Amino acid sequence: MGRSIVFASGKGGTGKTTAIANVGVALAQFGKEVIVIDADITMANLSLILGMEDIPITLHDVLSGEAELSDAIYEGPAGVKVIPGGLSLEKIKKAKNPERLKELMREISSLADFILIDAPAGLEMTSITALLIGKELILVTNPEISAITDSLKTKLVAEKLGTLPLGAVLNRVTNEKTELSKEDIETILDVPVLMIIPEDPEVKRASAYGIPLVIKNPTSPAAIAYKQLAAKLAGIR
Ligand code: ADP
Ligand code: MG
Repeated sequence: MGRSIVFASGKGGTGKTTAIANVGVALAQFGKEVIVIDADITMANLSLILGMEDIPITLHDVLSGEAELSDAIYEGPAGVKVIPGGLSLEKIKKAKNPERLKELMREISSLADFILIDAPAGLEMTSITALLIGKELILVTNPEISAITDSLKTKLVAEKLGTLPLGAVLNRVTNEKTELSKEDIETILDVPVLMIIPEDPEVKRASAYGIPLVIKNPTSPAAIAYKQLAAKLAGIR
């Protein structure tokens, strides 16, 4: 069974989707089988960052019995597989059998070493669903108090749901004086900081090209950090 890890933040725009795309590709480059699930239907940009178009069949179509799981799995860069989420509250309510989502997650877990789930911002039903279908949680946050408090709320909800917080990823770090320190953040969130990702203009350039940064510019500072995070998750030293 593969590890299912949800990347969540509470606050929007902290860098979850970018982190999932790059960590997913880096894990695939290390020879791991990786499936990324885009559970953020409002801002479904995971496929865009990965440079993929036309991925119409979603997890919901599988849930509702209108498609086979294999039809909703798309091949991305470096062999990363992508499943579009398409899970809205309405759609989940309409799904005949809610237990089917858990069953489906077990099926997906049997297909890969890592299942990375891109959670939407906030703590609405879709975010809760994303937290529920992941067994482990990585908080993607920025070194500012509003992002940290939202991450703390997310962590507390995840724990109630039985999802294990692995730690936090501090993204867009510039080391300005106004930023909270790694130690402060670890104290507030009560989880270790797994990786510090620096502010890096190459991130936006890569997403404009639709090529993941770890492929487009593997030696840029953020790419190196994403690869280190992937190595850490894979237990590679
Ligand atoms: P989320 O999925 O959490 O909403 P995104 O991954 O879409 O966040 O990132 C939000 C914005 O921040 C995007 O424009 C992205 O290019 C930018 N961004 C993310 N990480 C970095 C970084 N380390 N350096 C510079 N820009 C970044
Ligand atoms: Mg996103």
